[in-house]
Amino acid sequence: MQKFGFIGLGFMGSAMAKNLLKAGFQVTVWNRSQEKTGPLKVLGAESAETPQAVIEGCSVTFTMLADPAAAKAVCFGKYGVLNGIGAGKGYVDMSTVDAVTSREIAAAVTARGGRFLEAPVSGSRRPAEEGTLIILAAGDRSLYDEATPAFAKMGKKALYLGEVGHGANMKLVVNMVMGGMMAIFCEGLALGEQAGLAAADILDMIDAGAMANPMFRLKGGLISQGDFTAAFPLRYMQKDLRLAVALGDEIGQPLFSAAAANEAFKRARQMGFSDEDFSALAKAIRY
Ligand code: NAP
Repeated sequence: MQKFGFIGLGFMGSAMAKNLLKAGFQVTVWNRSQEKTGPLKVLGAESAETPQAVIEGCSVTFTMLADPAAAKAVCFGKYGVLNGIGAGKGYVDMSTVDAVTSREIAAAVTARGGRFLEAPVSGSRRPAEEGTLIILAAGDRSLYDEATPAFAKMGKKALYLGEVGHGANMKLVVNMVMGGMMAIFCEGLALGEQAGLAAADILDMIDAGAMANPMFRLKGGLISQGDFTAAFPLRYMQKDLRLAVALGDEIGQPLFSAAAANEAFKRARQMGFSDEDFSALAKAIRY
């Protein structure tokens, strides 16, 4: 059985690493807050002292970190990934970051003879637990092939999108659309309810027509019940909108709706909803 490294054991990373262990792979883990390695060790994982030690002990290592700052800290920091990278070592970053960050990490890894693949995921906490994520990979093709048995246990579908940056950009496009849809959905519910319509009727109406989709169906029910338990934390949706708007700036693409949605999510963060589900935007819009 292949041996993999896994760095970053937050909501997503813990569930993904667990699926590798359950599939019988040997897994060596590291997390900044060490206590999160406990449940993985119970399932048979080894833990390492530093990201460097994970890389040194494994031919392929996955990471699942919060944002560009975290991805850079783990890669470039003291006892970081770069210190362990050598000829042929594979580094697969599954965090959602911008293409500039991903290319910077890729350049540093390959300059030391390593191989790099970005592989952000589509899907939230439940798909991570059930191993049904969609993986958007780009970078070293041989590493993609080597990581495929692990991707098959973490996700239901993996796409290879070519050069580094394409995976990061695809992920930002998908989440930008999702954030924009959530913003207008919450505004529609707020407008309808303030105008005296029943939320259940608005949801039924939307679900009966061409706009019906699983996200509106699921989140609409939860918003009506006031259940904002995080499946995808609001702070990460705002981070992804911020990165998408920055990409639009960089390449000169106007993003009228995404920029407005970003401001709405910023307001929701300011109101204290960062750690709730991104559907908690409803509370910021209806306040
Ligand atoms: P999370 O639970 O907040 O976990 C974040 C991880 O990053 C933790 O392991 C955290 O370590 C680590 N981290 C943060 N800053 C760090 C730093 N400076 N140095 C080292 N480690 C650092 O987040 P998550 O929900 O698992 O999401 C992880 C990534 O997946 C994000 O990029 C997110 O956008 C993306 N994503 C999330 C979802 C979702 O539904 N949650 C879906 C698709 C994609 P500590 O434990 O020490 O804090």
